[in-house]
Order: sequence, then structure tokens, then C-alpha cells
Amino acid sequence: MSNKANRSQWWRLFLSSFVGFALIFILLGIIVFVLFSRAMLTSTDQTLRVERSARLAGPPHRMTQRDTQQKQQPNKGGSAHPFMTTTLVFNSKGKIINQAQLGSRYDSLKDIQLHRSEVGQLKSIVVGGKYNFRTLLTKVPQSNNDRSLAGRYLLIMENIDPQKSAMRNFRRIMLMTMGIFWLLSILISVWLSRLTMRPILKSWGRQTEFVGNAAHELRTPLTIIQNKLELLLTKPNDKIIDQAENIAIANSESQRLQKLTHDLLALARSDSNTLQTNFERTEVADFLSRTVEPYTEIAASQGKQLVLTPITPFKATLDQNLIHQLMNILIDNAMKYSPQGSTITISAKIIGRKWQLVVADQGIGIAPDQRRHIFDRFYRIDSSRSRQTGGNGLGLSIAHWIVDLHHGTIGVRDNQPQGSQFVTTLPLTPPTSLPTRHKTVKG
Ligand code: ADP
Repeated sequence: MSNKANRSQWWRLFLSSFVGFALIFILLGIIVFVLFSRAMLTSTDQTLRVERSARLAGPPHRMTQRDTQQKQQPNKGGSAHPFMTTTLVFNSKGKIINQAQLGSRYDSLKDIQLHRSEVGQLKSIVVGGKYNFRTLLTKVPQSNNDRSLAGRYLLIMENIDPQKSAMRNFRRIMLMTMGIFWLLSILISVWLSRLTMRPILKSWGRQTEFVGNAAHELRTPLTIIQNKLELLLTKPNDKIIDQAENIAIANSESQRLQKLTHDLLALARSDSNTLQTNFERTEVADFLSRTVEPYTEIAASQGKQLVLTPITPFKATLDQNLIHQLMNILIDNAMKYSPQGSTITISAKIIGRKWQLVVADQGIGIAPDQRRHIFDRFYRIDSSRSRQTGGNGLGLSIAHWIVDLHHGTIGVRDNQPQGSQFVTTLPLTPPTSLPTRHKTVKG
């Protein structure tokens, strides 16, 4: 995946979370606004219904208390509301017949038409281009007490300018708040998409680095083998003994290749979590002596001594194949990086509910600032030396993975007076929880 692809992935993540946020805010805004508008008109509609009942049941064509109050407080100036509530009485031809009671209000109201089909309906209308009213049209039954109203139409009107202006203010505040929240959601989306991309980029970076390193490691022995074979082809009449050195080099490089592919496979398995583990109760002292024994002879052949200190018998649950592999890596390294005549000591003991395995050598030691890195893949402190000893920088990362699988820790500290100690601490019974990270044990 190129940088461009990373960026487009980032954009996709950003847009999806931003659109998600925006939709939530819009939906929330609409719901709140609709509920607010309804609540605003509910009390007005209630007033209109009460007014209708009063009109139909009341004395002949009486004015309501509010009509009276408004008549006593005539409209001063043109801009104030001319009235809050009023009733228009239409005859069956649609003509307003209570003009006298309406007084000065009639001028504003005279253009209102009667729509017979709207009987019983609550409606919002605008009068004179600027006054908002909620109306309820009702038809007075022929049997009405007040004979003068029988068969007429009443349009009961309630001014809703204050509610309308409250709604306008509310809408403005809502839009402003939504704008602010959209800006916030842009920031949150940027933050979220960065947060989501970080592990992807990290693992992608590691993967690319791993493949690059692996290719590099594979290329060197392959090139050497190819060169040696080409050299042999130029001398078809030579005997094997004449080319023994070249053949030996090709052979050792192919062994190197084999170890490398084996290690790469182990790491690939560790990444994909496809390994089947086989944990079993194990008598640790016996298991360690069986594992260490073959190395004693190899060490002796290199002029080194391998010592397994006496271990008080105890049992632990472990995967024998994997711990065997761990021991191989640690003992192999201890021998690789220590001089002739030195001693490698292996010891194990119980500490609380854990047990500790220590592989100590009297070799070149590891500087404190390197200790953090030696468990990284392909990391070698001195790559030219490591190549001579056949190292590929994968051993300790496999060791770390094995220890992780056992829910343990692995670290390195100084050995006195010289060399390093690799300290592995494993639970006597590994829990089923997630693995922990390795740490450097301070010496
Ligand atoms: P390698 O195959 O190169 O040994 P490892 O992952 O096993 O790779 O080790 C990483 C590096 O750690 C080695 O290259 C070496 O520099 C250092 N190292 C490991 N074990 C020891 C040790 N016992 N003494 C000194 N250095 C060590």
C-alpha cells in the first residue's frame, strides 16, 4: 500500500465518521425542532378549542373576556399586534357579518376567505402579510341556542406571533449550535481516523520492513550459492576435492537458508496465531536435563563448558516443543557470543507462582542501550559478526514470541563478572488471558 493508498484510506475513514456525525446531528436537530414547534402550538390549539366550546354554548353572540379586553385597549400605532384573539362570523355566502364588533380590526381581516371544507381543522395563517394566527373554523348547527348564529361559520383566531418569533429564535440557535457541532465533529473525525489508522500504519510498516529484511537476508546466501555454482560450471573437469572449499561454502549457505526459512515460517505463524500449542504438566528438572544434554558435547567440542545447576524438582505447565526451541535459541546464542574456555550456566527455580529460567554466559555481554532492541526482528548488534556465527537476528524475536505464548516475560541483564544472563520468567500454570510484553530485567 503506497502513501496515496494510506491517504485515501484515511479520507474514507474521516468521511464516514464525519457523515455519521452529521447525520446524527441533523436528525437530532429535526426531532428537537419538530417537538418544540408542536409543543409551541399545542397550548394555542387548546385555547382555540375552549373558545369554540364557549362560542357554541354561550349567550347570543357574546364577546369573550379577551375580545372585550382588546376592544378596551385599541391598537396604538401600526406596528404592534392589533389583537390577540378574535372571531370572524361568516354567513353561508362567505361574507363577514360581525364587522361592527371587529371595529378597526376589520380592515386587516376583511380579506380572509371562508373555506367551508376546512371546518374543524386547525390551521396557521398570515394576516396582513405579517401577523401570524392559528385558526379553527367551525359551523354553528341550525339547532344552536343563539338563533342569530345558526347555520353561520365561526373562524376563531389566536395570534401566534410570539410563538413564531420564539420558533425563529430557536431555529437560529439550533443552526448555530449545529454549525459548531459540525466543526467539532470534523475535529473528532480527524482525531478518530488518525487513531484508527495508527495501528494499521504501524503494522503495515512492520510488515513492509519484515518483508524487506527477509528478502535481503534470503538474497545474500542465494547469491553466494549461485556464484559458487557458476564457478563450478566453469571448471567441469575439476574433481570434487579440488572444489571442496567452494562446495562447503555453498553447503553452509544453504544450511543458513534452511534455518532462515524455518525461522521466517515460525514468525509468520506467530503473526497469524495459527500455531497449535500443546501445554502439558512437565517435571521441569528432568525436561531441562534432557534438553541441555546434547549441547554439552557441542560446547565441549568448541572448548566451552555447559553446566546445568542442580534443580529442586517442581512441575510446570508448558509446551515442551516450544520451550525446547527457546532453550535452543538461548543456548545457541550463549555459545555463539562467548569465547573458548568460558562456561555457560543454566539454572531454574520457583519464585512464588512462577518459575525462572536463567541462561548465563561469560561472553561479550550486551550494552544496556541495546537490550531493548535485541528482541526485535532482524536486529543484530554486530551484523558482520552475527553473519560469521550464522545469526539472522530472528532467534530472540522467536524466543520472545514463545515466552508471550506462555504468558511470561523475558529480559537480559549483566552476568558477573562478565557476559549476559537471559532471564525467562514463566507462570507455573499459564492463564488463558492475553500475552504480556517482554521487559528488560535490570542487573
Ligand atoms: P542472531 O541470530 O543474530 O543471534 P538473535 O535474535 O538471536 O539473532 O540475537 C539478536 C542479537 O542479540 C545478536 O545478533 C547478538 O548481537 C545479540 N545477542 C544475543 N544473545 C547474545 C548473548 N548471549 N551475548 C551477547 N550478545 C547476544
